[in-house]
Order: sequence, then C-alpha cells, then structure tokens
Amino acid sequence: MNTNINLNIVNSKINLLNLSPKQIQLFLKSIGAKNFTSEQIMQWIYSHNCFDFNKMLNISKNIREKLNQTSYLKISNFSEEQISFDGTMKWITFLNNKKIETVYIPEKKRSTLCVSSQIGCALKCDFCATGKQGFYRNLTVSEIISQILQAKKRIDNKKITNIVFMGMGEPLLNLNNVVSALKIILNKNGFGLSKRRITVSTSGIVPAINKLSQKIDINLAISLHAPNNYIRNLIMPINKKYNIESLLTAVSRYLKHSNANRNGVTIEYVMLQNINDSNQNAEELACILKKVPSKINLIPWNSFKNSSFISSTPDKINIFANILRQKGFNTTIRKNRGEDINAACGQLTGNMINRSKNHL
Ligand code: SAH
Ligand code: SF4
Repeated sequence: MNTNINLNIVNSKINLLNLSPKQIQLFLKSIGAKNFTSEQIMQWIYSHNCFDFNKMLNISKNIREKLNQTSYLKISNFSEEQISFDGTMKWITFLNNKKIETVYIPEKKRSTLCVSSQIGCALKCDFCATGKQGFYRNLTVSEIISQILQAKKRIDNKKITNIVFMGMGEPLLNLNNVVSALKIILNKNGFGLSKRRITVSTSGIVPAINKLSQKIDINLAISLHAPNNYIRNLIMPINKKYNIESLLTAVSRYLKHSNANRNGVTIEYVMLQNINDSNQNAEELACILKKVPSKINLIPWNSFKNSSFISSTPDKINIFANILRQKGFNTTIRKNRGEDINAACGQLTGNMINRSKNHL
C-alpha cells in the first residue's frame, strides 16, 4: 500500500499545506525566516484564504522569494456540489480520478463539517457503502485541510462550529496525516477550533487509539454497533483483529488522559433490524459499557443499493434508547440529514444523485 502518493514534494518543492504548524515553523527556520513568520503565513492561508506568497506583504521580500523557490501552496478543489432539501450540502473532490466527499450540516445551534480521511475504506463493514467500494489511498494533509478551506469558501465564511472525521475512510489508518490536520484545525492561526468541537470516529484500531492519545486530545467516537463479539464479527471484520474487550480497554486508557472527552466517549450504534436491535441487545450493551463513561448515539441505518440490511423501525429505536436511558446512559438518536442527496452516514460513495447537481 503506497500512502505517500502526492505527498509533499513536486520538483523538490514542498506544498506547505502538507505541513503541521510545527513543521511549517521548522521549514521556515531552515530558509532563514524569523519565528513569527510561520504565524503570519498560517494567517494568510487559513484566515485570508491567500495562496500566493507574493501577496503576503507583511513578509519580507527576501523570504517571499525563498518561499517561491522552495515551496508552493496548492489546494484540492471541489468540483461538484449538491444541496439537500434540509440545507445539508455535499461536495465532491476528484483525486486520481476517484471521488471523495465532504458534507456540511447546518443546524440551529451549530454547523458541522464532515470530512473524509481516505479514498474509500479497506475495512469492509457490511452495512457501509464506503466499505463496499474498497480502498484506494490515504488522503494527504493538504487534501484533508482543503476540504475545510473549500467548504468555508462555498458557505461564504459562515461559521463551521464543529468538524467530524466521519466521511469516507478510517481516520486512524491514516494517523500521521490526520494528526497533522487536527493540529492545524486546533491551532489559533489555523482554524482555531476547540478540542471539544472536533470528533474523530473510528471503527476501533486499537494500537492507533493508543498512539493517538500520546499525540493529541480530541473527542473520540467509537463505531461499536454491536453488544457482543458474535454480532460485531458478523458485521465488522475488524473485530476479528481487535475485539470488543481490547477496544474498550483502549478507550478507557484514552479517556484517562483526555480532557476533551470529559463527558465520556461517544459510542455509535447503527440500528439494524433483527441483527442488533433487540431489548436483550440493549441490556447487553448497557452491561459492557458499565465501566466506560459514554454517551450513546443510535444511528438509524441508511440504505444503499445492493445491501440486504433493513433499518430498525423508529418504535424499536425508541424502545432501545429508553432501555439505555433507564440504565443511566445519555442516549440520543441521530437525525438523518441530507438523505435525499446520499449525504448521510455510510452513504458516501462519491456519487451524486442526478437532481440539481452543480459543477463548480
Ligand atoms: N470509518 C470511521 C468513520 C466514518 S463512518 C468509522 O467507521 O467510525 C461514520 C459513521 O457512520 C460510523 O459510525 C459508521 O459506522 C456509520 N455508518 C456507516 N455506514 C452506515 C449506514 N449505512 N447507515 C448509518 N450509519 C453508517
Ligand atoms: Fe470504513 Fe467506517 Fe465504513 Fe467501516 S464504517 S467500512 S471503517 S468507513
């Protein structure tokens, strides 16, 4: 698997959008710039959407020339846009003739951007359209960050209050690039979001959860989706490598060092009729989560072509939620947004519904 395609260097020049704040600082030092130049450059890029060194007039001419000789700034553009009846927006970026998706979900009190971390996904969860597509490659830092820069432009700099890594791909299988992108999102000269407003969702790559905790503190969401290993093995092949016990142990360890997850980890649980939605399953779930401070988010399953699952009925989901609430768990039911344009969780395959597709 080649994860370095497109990475940093073109004709020995570096795309600065692939660097974390610390790496930008080191790079600038290496070309003789003062310490504060990295802050200035980041402000030009992330606050002013400026990608031309020649226009960064508060940076000395000498350093601007050196920057032009050694580096460049290149973002990946959105090429298609679709807007749902409920205001959700979905964008496609073409990379190596493949597509990735970014989704913007405006709500009353917050506006969430859902970004992709890989082209496709290798983990083949049975209920997920992205998983059915297979894996192509990891996204570079600039490709992750470009989704945010481009979205801000499309929504006219309206505020993005939250960013979730719940688009295409398994973020923890692209750990280094995702962590660099997270550092830019957190940095005050980057996007300046607080750690409590950034969520990384993972299907449970245990060693990567352990590494993550040494690198960065953000909200963690765990795609658990089953109350026991028997059911999880059936729907999530990754469970055969990292089972529920090892996953929950890693989560507890992460929580010990985390301030962002003060109110507990988010447990995602997709509701699949007659697979994981019985009352007994709810009891089992409450039992395995007894020792893990958690908020549970029940997700009605979103259908896609050629899948044999059926979503649990709203009644069944409510009964399931109430059992968990009675056991003391903060339990929410996810509202499906953007379903009419296939922008909901697990529907992301890079395809646009033909209605009202705009080329950008
Ligand atoms: N790979 C990561 C993040 C992307 S998926 C992960 O699995 O956590 C974002 C969320 O959508 C995950 O909880 C995932 O399990 C869920 N999901 C996938 N397919 C779905 C579908 N068809 N309907 C509802 N949720 C789905
Ligand atoms: Fe990959 Fe997440 Fe989909 Fe599983 S649910 S196939 S890990 S994107």
